[in-house]
Amino acid sequence: MALRDILIAPHAKLKTKAAPVEAVDDELRRLMDDMLETMYAAPGIGLAAPQVGVMQRLIVLDVAGKDGPPAPMCLVNPEIVARGEDTVVAEEGCLSLPEIYAEVERHARVFVRFTDREGEVREMDTDGLLARCVQHELDHLDGVLFVDHLSALKRKMLLRKLAKLQREKERQTA
Ligand SMILES: [Zn+2]
Repeated sequence: MALRDILIAPHAKLKTKAAPVEAVDDELRRLMDDMLETMYAAPGIGLAAPQVGVMQRLIVLDVAGKDGPPAPMCLVNPEIVARGEDTVVAEEGCLSLPEIYAEVERHARVFVRFTDREGEVREMDTDGLLARCVQHELDHLDGVLFVDHLSALKRKMLLRKLAKLQREKERQTA
């Protein structure tokens, strides 16, 4: 396994739609392992392949938290096949927008179809943090960031803040 570099916004790849995965093979499973390791090291609860520069429809997540045993999930070609009517607003962050947080409205419940690590097609009924995480990561596969759900003004403000924080970080490490 190896840590991958996480792309930081604004990066063209983060605004690009990813292509469907054609085969779940050992190479893809290696990518899954690298992504999980990168996500845990960050630390984060979800990571999409475009965030490590791979333009394929693959996401990994683990919403178990510190109190439970690790529960890594790898979703290949995930798609939301049904959404509940209720929505819920909660704060989100993103490994590609470090130290930036905002409240985002999401569906409270989503039904997801995906291919698993072994190449089997599966379906999953999600709610709570898992539903939020799935929607956030799935957005990444379509080149959408959580700030894209906010008003243009708010988005501009947060992206400016991010650019400033990144400049400061570069100065510190220079
Ligand atoms: Zn994200």
